[in-house]
Amino acid sequence: MKKIQMVDLKGQYEGIKDQINNSFNEIFETTAFINGTEVQQFQKELEEYLGVKHVIPCANGTDALQIAMMGLGLKLGDEVITADFTFAATVEVIALLQLTPVLVDVDPRTFNIDTEAIKQAITPKTKAIVPVHLFGQVANMDAIMAIAQEHNLYVIEDNAQAIGANYHSEHRTLKAGAIGHVGATSFFPSKNLGAYGDGGALFTNDDELAHTIRGIVNHGMYERYHHDVVGVNSRLDSFQAAVLRAKLPRLDMYNEARKKSALKYDEAFRGIEGIEIPYRGGDYDTHVFHQYTLKIKDGKRDALAKHLQQEQIPFGVYYPIPLHLQKAYVDDRYLEKDFTVTNKLVKEVLSLPMHTELEDDQIEYITSTIISFLKNN
Ligand SMILES: *Cc1c(COP(=O)(O)O)cnc(C)c1O
Repeated sequence: MKKIQMVDLKGQYEGIKDQINNSFNEIFETTAFINGTEVQQFQKELEEYLGVKHVIPCANGTDALQIAMMGLGLKLGDEVITADFTFAATVEVIALLQLTPVLVDVDPRTFNIDTEAIKQAITPKTKAIVPVHLFGQVANMDAIMAIAQEHNLYVIEDNAQAIGANYHSEHRTLKAGAIGHVGATSFFPSKNLGAYGDGGALFTNDDELAHTIRGIVNHGMYERYHHDVVGVNSRLDSFQAAVLRAKLPRLDMYNEARKKSALKYDEAFRGIEGIEIPYRGGDYDTHVFHQYTLKIKDGKRDALAKHLQQEQIPFGVYYPIPLHLQKAYVDDRYLEKDFTVTNKLVKEVLSLPMHTELEDDQIEYITSTIISFLKNN
């Protein structure tokens, strides 16, 4: 059996090596390191893939979220509702822009933002909702868009974990990230569409917003050396774009490989006491398994984690602390009774190795190790 890895980027590289090496050599020759043709081509190809009018590449996913909020003109004191159970980047940029983060609880099955909790959290100061498509499963976007429309709010999708996921709306199928007013994604190497360094992008169908954002990523310039707004420096470089161009045509295949591994995990764990396999959200979404995340019941998660460590099986606990309890984000506004789901999830979740190169014997070893531990402890 090959050594089990949480993410196997080397194995994936083997399949695209020639293409990537060739484009890297070309970039060395042309020296178009920033905003070269690779970046422009990638932008077009991603627009086509997502069915979205505008893709604006940037330096990373955190920047993409921040720039989305800047582009929408959110300002001091505006309230932005997001999930308590997510990676810190989501709430970090809200705080950084001196907006007011409003953390709300999540759905116990999907781990995604609870739409009833969103409704409860809306005040006259609310300006935007940031649903996070956690672990690769799309949030309940129909409900979220309806709430947003009713209260005149923006929806910024944090799509860092769900690129390529389809969302089946009532009338049509859309790509995750292309449903809200603006989407933000990350090309961090371990994401479903990962570069070989940092990268990110924004998506929108709004021409005016796209124009605003294109200026913001480039120091607020719309005309050379005319700075109309306060911007940032956030660029995707040509090497990263070349990697992403090699991977984009394979993204559906990669996501299928993840789903296939997820199904194998499911099969092995189904009916095993003390394990809850990942829920799939009925008919409206698909899951692209950025993470395969189990709930380990009866307080056994940490003991199991320790056992996996001894058996050299990699795992992750995403995320061990709710954001409302993180030192940087604690606030008197938050009441423990409003976070019962997240408070419980952080003690139960366990993510298993998930990538495009997982092999059957590895899955078999991982699942049998977990099952026998739970039976005997
Ligand atoms: C990875 C991630 C980000 C941040 O992306 P970076 O490219 O690392 O800045 C934001 N939100 C979520 C949910 C993520 O998983």
